[in-house]
Amino acid sequence: MYDCIIVGSGPTGGTTGYHLAKKGHSVLILDKADLPRYKPCGGGVSSVIQEWFDFDFSPAISLTTNQVYCTWEHEKTIAVNTKNYPIWMVRRDIFDYFLVQQAVKQGAILQDKTEVTDIEFKSDKWIVKTSNQEFSGRYLIAADGAKGTMAKRLGFKKLKKLVSGALEVEIPSHNQSNDTYFEFGFVQHGYAWNFPKADGFSMGAGVFGLQRKAQSYHKIIANYASLFNLTLDNASEHGHPISLWNGDQKLHTDNALLAGEAACVVDPFTAEGIRPSIFSGLKASEAIHNALSGDINALEKYTEVMTQEWGKEMIWAQRLSQIFYRFPQLGYQVMEKNPVSASTMLKIFSGKLSYSQVAQKGINLLTKSFFSYG
Ligand SMILES: Cc1cc2nc3c(=O)[nH]c(=O)nc-3n(C[C@H](O)[C@H](O)[C@H](O)COP(=O)(O)OP(=O)(O)OC[C@H]3O[C@@H](n4cnc5c(N)ncnc54)[C@H](O)[C@@H]3O)c2cc1C
Repeated sequence: MYDCIIVGSGPTGGTTGYHLAKKGHSVLILDKADLPRYKPCGGGVSSVIQEWFDFDFSPAISLTTNQVYCTWEHEKTIAVNTKNYPIWMVRRDIFDYFLVQQAVKQGAILQDKTEVTDIEFKSDKWIVKTSNQEFSGRYLIAADGAKGTMAKRLGFKKLKKLVSGALEVEIPSHNQSNDTYFEFGFVQHGYAWNFPKADGFSMGAGVFGLQRKAQSYHKIIANYASLFNLTLDNASEHGHPISLWNGDQKLHTDNALLAGEAACVVDPFTAEGIRPSIFSGLKASEAIHNALSGDINALEKYTEVMTQEWGKEMIWAQRLSQIFYRFPQLGYQVMEKNPVSASTMLKIFSGKLSYSQVAQKGINLLTKSFFSYG
């Protein structure tokens, strides 16, 4: 019997597996995919995550960006230098597999091509069923991402989340640039991105506001790519849902936790999911370790920690999102008039500043501008 079974080997599963195995616990990580697997994603990761691990992520980084540009219809550029707050650009197949391999080096067992099809809580342990095998574990972590079914299987009937969709396009190219772009004028109530990789670009589009409007992401991205002299001729396209944070909620049940996107931790303003998933994976590993060490309230405390340390921030991100994406053009004008707001966002992304310290000021600026426009 394992101390902990983790379903999913993305950033959440890799993080939880690494920290639990490092503390000497027996860990089984199951993934239905044939690893390394592709995950539709821009692959922009705040380098602050390095602080949460004692190994070097360099082999998993495609490049580090120098400069971020925000634009409105490819004009009205706001430039932010990222020298003090590096952002990594990663290929998710490489990054996720590298991370989970570090867990394996610490003694975790990784089994891919193994889909969890059912679970059962029996005599204080979880029986985890796959198509041809059964495993048992004292604790269980659902790290199965936005499309996962584990939360439902664990009895979480209706999670608080705002489901968004995004399209990501991988464009292979001889790339000389480290520059990163966010474009707010082409997508209604969302943004498009152009993230550089050592061997090409990840471009994409998604809607992150409450308002939903039918629009062709493919057309938007094709047009956006042409502005960088790129075409989608040799590109691969991948659509995927995103579970944005939409309120605090219970993330624990009998000997089990929800973590990462399965726990709907994605920032509802920026749609950043990797750092939040890794953060929740870290906190989940601490909770399971404490539970295995005899703390009977450890899992409940995980929900409290996520509320205190993540939910407290996300409530501000949600307020900003609701106001910014409702009237994005006015929102962008406010950003242009206050270019420091873009570098403030970068500091938040880097974990060096919290939303709660600055968001009220941003909301006041946006509200004032909307009233003066109206
Ligand atoms: C288009 C797009 C662009 C994005 N860009 C960014 C970005 O630039 N930066 C950023 O920070 N975030 C980004 N995100 C969000 C980010 O990709 C996710 O939040 C992150 O991958 C969540 O990590 P996770 O480990 O929780 O889940 P995942 O990475 O989704 O991993 C879940 C794993 O669980 C496995 N699994 C699922 N069900 C089962 C099962 N029943 N049995 C066994 N295994 C199972 C899957 O195969 C998968 O490997 C983006 C999302 C999208 C859709």
